[in-house]
This record gives sequence, structure tokens and C-alpha cells, in this order.
Amino acid sequence: MTGPVLTHLGESWLELGPTRTAERDGPWRAARDAQGVLWLALDVAGSEANTISREVLEGLDRQLDAIEQDLPKGVVIRSAKPGGFAAGADISMFRDLDDAEDVAQMLTRGHAVMDRFEALTCPTVCIVHGPALGGGFEIALACDRIIAVDGASFGFPEVNLGLHPGLGGTFRLTDRIDAIEAMTLMLTGKTAHTRKARALGIADAVVEERHVEAAARAAIAGDLEQDGPGLTDRAMALSAARSLAARKMRATAEDRAPKDHYPAPYALVDLWEAHGGDRKAMQEAEVASFAKLVTGETSRNLVRVFFLQQALKKDGGGVDGIAHIHVVGAGTMGGEIAAWCAMKGKRVTLSDPDTDALGRAIRQASAICKAQHLSGIETRNALDRLMPDPQQLGVPAADLVIEAGPEDADIKAAIYAGIEPLMNPTATLATNSSSLSVAALAKSLKRPRRFAGLHFFNPVSKMQLVEVVTHPDTFGTVTDQLAAFCGAIGRLPARVHDYPGYLVNRALTPYLLEAIQLIEEGHDKQVIDTATEAFGMPMGPVELADQVGLDICLHVAESLKSGLDKPMVDIPDWLSQMVENGDTGKKSGKGFYEWTDGKAQKSAASETGATDDIADRLILPMLDACVECLRKDIARDSDQVDGAMIFATGFAPFRGGPMHYAGSRGIDEIVARLEELSEAHGERFRPDPGWQDMG
Ligand code: NAD
Repeated sequence: MTGPVLTHLGESWLELGPTRTAERDGPWRAARDAQGVLWLALDVAGSEANTISREVLEGLDRQLDAIEQDLPKGVVIRSAKPGGFAAGADISMFRDLDDAEDVAQMLTRGHAVMDRFEALTCPTVCIVHGPALGGGFEIALACDRIIAVDGASFGFPEVNLGLHPGLGGTFRLTDRIDAIEAMTLMLTGKTAHTRKARALGIADAVVEERHVEAAARAAIAGDLEQDGPGLTDRAMALSAARSLAARKMRATAEDRAPKDHYPAPYALVDLWEAHGGDRKAMQEAEVASFAKLVTGETSRNLVRVFFLQQALKKDGGGVDGIAHIHVVGAGTMGGEIAAWCAMKGKRVTLSDPDTDALGRAIRQASAICKAQHLSGIETRNALDRLMPDPQQLGVPAADLVIEAGPEDADIKAAIYAGIEPLMNPTATLATNSSSLSVAALAKSLKRPRRFAGLHFFNPVSKMQLVEVVTHPDTFGTVTDQLAAFCGAIGRLPARVHDYPGYLVNRALTPYLLEAIQLIEEGHDKQVIDTATEAFGMPMGPVELADQVGLDICLHVAESLKSGLDKPMVDIPDWLSQMVENGDTGKKSGKGFYEWTDGKAQKSAASETGATDDIADRLILPMLDACVECLRKDIARDSDQVDGAMIFATGFAPFRGGPMHYAGSRGIDEIVARLEELSEAHGERFRPDPGWQDMG
């Protein structure tokens, strides 16, 4: 054979290799070279990344017919996509699965193909560049040898969809590498990058792209050894040792999420504990367990969340045309917004009358880069793009100015009066206000049509959602641009209309205020928090109020109050007193909780008993506010509301979002319950008329 067959320089290696002339059979192309090696390329049509579907497995089965008839000297599999090996299963497939028995049958057929491939008597090699996730990783594991191209990564993200591997990953990975490490990868959904993958024994070699062909040929010639099982592995063959390890794994899983809400990790531990080391038994158990999980409620809701996220991402498509951003205000939010934008490749200037705030913002930016695992060079480049600019010299060149000054309409108006005349007339101005009316703020502007809200959530680096808040005069092109900007910096835009609290804070405020009312009535704060944590919230409302800042909560509550057509909880004097005393929550070290090292200090709760009533008092008003926002066209539809609440507040993802939860619990039941609560606790629980249209 002549020339490099696998050179892969940003274009499909198929164009360069012997498979160039090969006929495509579904997602596969195959060609034999003069040495009798079969090169098999995975190239799913019409998509940038390969996903593993029934079609891929059926195609592989057909390839096996030809391979078995005339056994090649070896088989080399790799992806023809420049971006990577495979992004995992085609998740849209999961949406239609509702019968566990049908799923088990389908999986069994898939397993038969993988087993048949694994049983080939010629050497098989998988070359992985970029990510090999889920089903893609499982195909690699069915090969005798895995060669990683520098930059390759391997992982099983199934757990994020309420699943575990279902195409042989559970037994092939625990077989191939240290079983504890294998289980940890599957239980956490984390990815092993090249070096870690080599150290774990997932990859048998790491090579640069230009050495890939030689490495593949060496592997076929038997010159690439595989690491043998280690000591731990031999120990894990004993069921007593597995049981001990399984207990620890269950305890760790319990710390993350309870079994009732997220059953997949427990199912995986169960199947490994019972059958570890017995491939056949583990395979059968994997099929049965996956079929049960994928048709179960948690996984169905998490798959739904995946598609809600895709829909929000799509809303942030297009080109933003924003190269330079000027951020006004380098406090908690402005500093982080500036750092995040610089990290995502934007040029950023940052101003604040307080130069200490600028210094803190730059230090915070380094910390964010570190937390995001940026390399030294990436961090340096990000920090180079972020310029403290006390004189506001960057404003004329900015395509977008984000104002993150104090939450005070007069201060904001003064900031705009100073900055708008300096701006390029075609640039966009956005406010990060969390509660002020965008329409009212626009009134002081010369170019109100180029103004909107861009409401980031705290912390910016963790909360994916950004509300793009429009007032009636905002140009459609400005809304599109801001949504595309969110997409460009890896955030999810929710386009909403101006309203007290917009969408998310409108929904969240009654939840936080009801917690304060419950405290006023004498309930233990930890019992209140536990009630919603048991529902599946990542954090209870009391802890959340402390985290957001009691001053901000008060402020949002005050500014919402007058604009709503329903009464809110009366804010007790002691709360205003706490804020006046400086006990504002996490940031001051003391709020409802004492805070040490960024963590709320909790002790044993003094109150016990049923918390269902508490949970309903907290959760149902949040759902009711979402319905109100839909009725008033603040949000587009229920799916947008669900996505926004999950990605801005962490609303129990396994419940599929507040509106989806309402639908599954039953609209009539929720309305009846709200009426009951209204009788018992007051008008604020009165069901919104919009429930009538929710059926
Ligand atoms: P912050 O108090 O931490 O920061 C405000 C910054 O603005 C300070 O550094 C201050 O020096 C600066 N500033 C004061 N006067 C200024 C002026 N005239 N020009 C420019 N800068 C000035 O406040 P924050 O929490 O970062 O909030 C900023 C905005 O973001 C507010 O509108 C707030 O409602 C909104 N927001 C806050 C959060 C949150 O959780 N903190 C979340 C979402 C949105």
C-alpha cells in the first residue's frame, strides 16, 4: 500500500485512505489494503458527529457477514468524522421506547452484533480521536486493542440520562480495567482524557495522528501489549470484596441523590455486585436493567431535559457579530460575566468606579479559569482578553455593553446617561437587572430599541440559563443578537418578555417568601429545606435565599409586589432587620445559616414529622407563577418554562420541569390542592386562571 492511509488533518481520512473508493453501506465504509487489513470507517450520514443507532449496529452486522466469509489479516475501525469517534447513542431513539420487553429484545440483537464482532479470530483495533462516548466507547471496548490519538477521551455519560451503559459497557469496561475505576467512571459519567485513559488501561497506546497507521499495523502484528488485570481486579473477583465496595458505592450515590429519584447508579451497583466477573450473567442483567431504566419515569424525564436543553441551544443559534463587550460594574455579577465572556473568546473591557472591585474581578477570573480546568496558556489568553478599564475607554469599540451596576433604577439611569453617548450607535446595551422593569429602564435611553435585559444567574459559570428580556420596543434583531451571543458563550437563552421578576424570579420569589413565612410560623429552617430537597430540589429555599443574598431577595420581593395581581407573603420586620445588621447570607458569612468555607452549617433539625404539606406550600406557588407567565405570554410555551426553570434554578431535573411535573401529578389535583391551601393560608395560593388552559 502506498501513502498514509489515516492522515487526518481536519478532513475526513476517508478522502485520503483506501476507503476513498469504497462503497458506503449505511453508516460504514470498508476497504481492504494490499496487506489484507480491513479498514472500517464509521461515517453516519447527515451529521457532524457519529451517534450509535440501530442502523450502525445493523450495518456492522452486514460488514461481519463479509469479514467472516473472507477473514482479513486484521480489522481497524475508526471514525471518518474530524470531530471525534462517536458522541454516544442517538438519544432521539430513547424517546420512543416505552415497552421494557421490546427494548430488551432490541438490545439483545445489538449485543449479538457486538459479541460477533468481539469473537472474530483476527486482531481488531479501534483508533479513537476526540470523544468516544456511550455506545461509541462500547464499540471500542469490543476491539482487542484501543489506540488513542492525542486528545481522545472516553466516557459513559449515560448516568446523566438516568441510565447505565447498555451495549456491553458494564462488563467490558469492568473486565478491561480496574473494576473500581470502571465503576467510578460509569457512576459519575465523567470522561477519561487521553493520559488518564492510558493510565487506566482503556487505551493501549497514545499516538500522534501521523503515527496512527504504524501503530494500528503494529497492533495487528501483535506488537502492542495490553495491561493485565491488577491486584484490585483479582480481589474484586471475590463476591465478599465486591459487596464491600458496592456498599461504599451506594453510600456515595446516596450522598448525590436518593434511589427513588435517580435509580440508575443503584441498578448498576446491584448488577455488578451480583454478577461481577461473570460476563454472561452480567450481560443478561445489563440488558434487563437498561430496559427497565430507559422505560422508567426518571430516565424519560431526563431524556426530556436533554431535548429541552437542545431547544434552548437552538434558540441561541446564529452569528452574534459581537467581538468586544464592555461590562459596567465589576461586582459579584459583572466580574463573573466579564470573566466568562473572556474565557469564551470575547474581548472584554470592565469598568467600575471602585478600583478594588476591578482587582477582585481579575482575581476571580483566574479562579474561574482554574475551576473550569483551563490550561496555563488558555488561562493566560483569557486573562489577556479581559482588560480592567476604569476610564471606560473600551465603550466606543464595544459591540455590546452589559450593565451590571447596583439594582437601583436611578443609579442605572445615571450609568446609561454617561455611557450611551459614548457607544457606537449600532451597538447593543443590555442590563443584568434581576427585577427592574426593562421597559421602565428603557425610558431614559436615546436608543431604547437597542436595549434589552440579559439576565444571568449566579454563579454565571454554573448556571447555564440567561433570560433575554425584551420590552415592547426592542428590535427583533437585537433579541436575536443577544440570544446568539448567549449561544456563542455557551449559555442557554430564554427569550421572555418584561414582567415583574421576568419569568424565573417571578416563579422563584413565592417559593423563597413562603419559606420565610414558614419560619415566621415557627417551622425549623432545616425541615423546610429538607422538604424540597426530598422533592428533588438541589437546595432548599432557606439555604437558597442565603446563597442569593437576603438583601437581594428583599429587593426582588419589594419590586415584584406592586406589579402582581395576587397578594404576596408579608415580609416580616425581622428579615429587614437581619439585612440591616449585615446578616445577608453566604456573602457575609451569616444569614439564616452560618456559612463556613462557602457551606451552610447544618445541625440536627429540631422538628420532625410529615413535610408533604410544607413541600406543597413551597412548590405549588412556583408552578402557579409559571402558569401565570404562560397566560400572560411572558414565556413562549411550557417547554421553554420547564427548560428555563431547570437550567436557572436546578428545578428537580428528574421531574422534567415544573409544567411537566404539574401534568404528571394532574392539573385538577394541583388546582384542588391550591384551593385547599388558599382556604387554609390565604389568597396568595389562589389558583391562576391559566390552569384552565393547561389540560
Ligand atoms: P454588586 O453590588 O456585587 O456589584 C455592583 C457593582 O457596581 C459594584 O462593584 C459597584 O462598585 C458598582 N457600581 C456602583 N455604582 C456604579 C456606577 N455608577 N457605575 C458602574 N458601576 C457601579 O451587585 P451584583 O450582585 O453584582 O448585582 C449587579 C446587578 O446584577 C444588579 O442589577 C443585580 O440585580 C443583578 N443580578 C444579581 C444577581 C446576584 O445573585 N447577585 C443575580 C442576577 C442579577
